[in-house]
Amino acid sequence: MKKIPITFIIDDSAPYVMTPYTNREPKLTADGRPLMRFSTKEMLLRFADIIAEVGMRGKFSIIPMAGNEGDILNGFKDVKLQDVRDWLDIARQRVAPFFSICPEMLSHRNAVDLKSGKALPEREDVWASTQNRTALTPYITHALEILKKASFDVRGVTSPWYFGKEVEEEYVAALAQAIYDVYGYKSSYYFLHQLRGVPNVKPWIAYEKDDRCVVSIPAVTRDWFWETMDSTEDSEDYISRVADHFITADGKGGCIVHELELGSYPTLCTHWQSLCSNGLMTGMRAFAEVGRRINEHLLDRVEWVSFNELLDIIIRNKDSYRVKPISMQRIEYEY
Ligand SMILES: [Zn+2]
Repeated sequence: MKKIPITFIIDDSAPYVMTPYTNREPKLTADGRPLMRFSTKEMLLRFADIIAEVGMRGKFSIIPMAGNEGDILNGFKDVKLQDVRDWLDIARQRVAPFFSICPEMLSHRNAVDLKSGKALPEREDVWASTQNRTALTPYITHALEILKKASFDVRGVTSPWYFGKEVEEEYVAALAQAIYDVYGYKSSYYFLHQLRGVPNVKPWIAYEKDDRCVVSIPAVTRDWFWETMDSTEDSEDYISRVADHFITADGKGGCIVHELELGSYPTLCTHWQSLCSNGLMTGMRAFAEVGRRINEHLLDRVEWVSFNELLDIIIRNKDSYRVKPISMQRIEYEY
């Protein structure tokens, strides 16, 4: 029997700029500590070490104009340009081979005026909710062009918040065009939906016209590392308990095992801020532990794939991926 693809989604990552800090008021954790404003290249190196050691694969967002604070090519407010460049070098050399890089649209904050580069009054998901493909195509194109200029090979996008949900047909048509215009690819993926506890959830083909194809890759777990941002606990026991939500130490429980029993592809989800844990890196330790537990208990059933590899599997077997799950409930818990 063929193994089931397993993959880990990392949302909200960007060089140094932390989206909880740029988006939240007051700028505090739930337990009242000041939110970290910047991550560091050392944190990205730690992530790169873990995915190499454990052998994990997935998708890793890079928000090109994170927080409306600048961009990855010209630098961000109050961050040294060299630090941004070093961070991108690590992402290119040590993350991209295992975790497919994609934009999480432009800012993950306010929509961007493409002519001036300035922030518009609306959040970009709110802006997107009333747009059509004519407006969305140049917006997505701009995000892809920035990552292309930074020498990343990109085959899809992540939706910040609910970006495009209300106009999904327009969104996928715009993505098909943008990815072809910038990279020449005829197929692409996007991450928008979260479907938990629903039987037989697999990615599905959301757009197909002529020789173009767009695949929706949904997440089937919540981000159980999120809580590490709001706690100063850092004991081994705490790390183990956080990891238990995904998979218990004996490999018999946790949401990954539950989703496999339901017949779904274990497409796991977390966020960069959940791994950084407001500087404590407890989420990163739990992430590594989850990877080790998966490898110890599930490798006879599952196989790590990046999003690009998953996309290739789907494109080679299109007929198996035409069914959209019946329940399309999306659960959102990003601030
Ligand atoms: Zn996000």
